[in-house]
Amino acid sequence: MRILLTNDDGINAPGLYVLEKIAAQLSDDIWICAPSEEQSGAGHSLTLTRPVRMRQHAERRFSVSGTPTDSVTMALKKILPGPPDLILSGVNRGANLGDDVTYSGTVSAAFEGALAGIRAVALSQVYSKEGVGNDVDFSAAEQWGAKVLRPLLDAPFAPRTLINVNFPPVAGDQVAGIRVVRQGFHDYARGSVVEGTDPRGFPYYWFGLHGIEHTLGSDTDLEAIAGAFVSVTPLQIDLTHQDSLDPLTEIYRT
Ligand code: MN
Repeated sequence: MRILLTNDDGINAPGLYVLEKIAAQLSDDIWICAPSEEQSGAGHSLTLTRPVRMRQHAERRFSVSGTPTDSVTMALKKILPGPPDLILSGVNRGANLGDDVTYSGTVSAAFEGALAGIRAVALSQVYSKEGVGNDVDFSAAEQWGAKVLRPLLDAPFAPRTLINVNFPPVAGDQVAGIRVVRQGFHDYARGSVVEGTDPRGFPYYWFGLHGIEHTLGSDTDLEAIAGAFVSVTPLQIDLTHQDSLDPLTEIYRT
């Protein structure tokens, strides 16, 4: 089984090494292609206005000077000897829960795989504290990663869907189990905008993560994580709101 690994935190991110350990429990045919720099929040963006450079670090390890979607595209079209059986994206440093999935480079890299007809899973390690830098505890992902993935290897995946997995912010031996849940939502979509002054006296703005509020809907990914469960959520690329099609059609009928 050939597995492609990618992420949005960059080729040297600690979570990518965690993902390598997880993937090594499933196969020995592992290929890696990830952005050369951190691309968190890149969503499903493609680099269109400048060339993309690729660098080979080892026989099956590559970085791309672009987005997570660029990395998957390069892997599928230029690097791998054939299509992979599975794409794993992560393990992201931080949550990809609720509405945040559309901002997520981690989830979008998996979406790109799903668009190419490849089984794809996004994995993220939630952490509880702000400003911890690289000091995030990935032990829940490390201990539960292969356990979550193994049943998915032979499970049917509907076309244009992927699986979004989040690991709770507890030590691996404190994880309560695995829950299959729907996507939750935040009450207010984005956090704070931090304002400061740069060394030359000009103002700058930095989007922060403070102040994101949510009510834990029942059977949501947010609720599962709050209960120290690993959340498993199937996502679809089709964003059409089916129930609105008929009323909207009615509006334009004259
Ligand atoms: Mn990230």
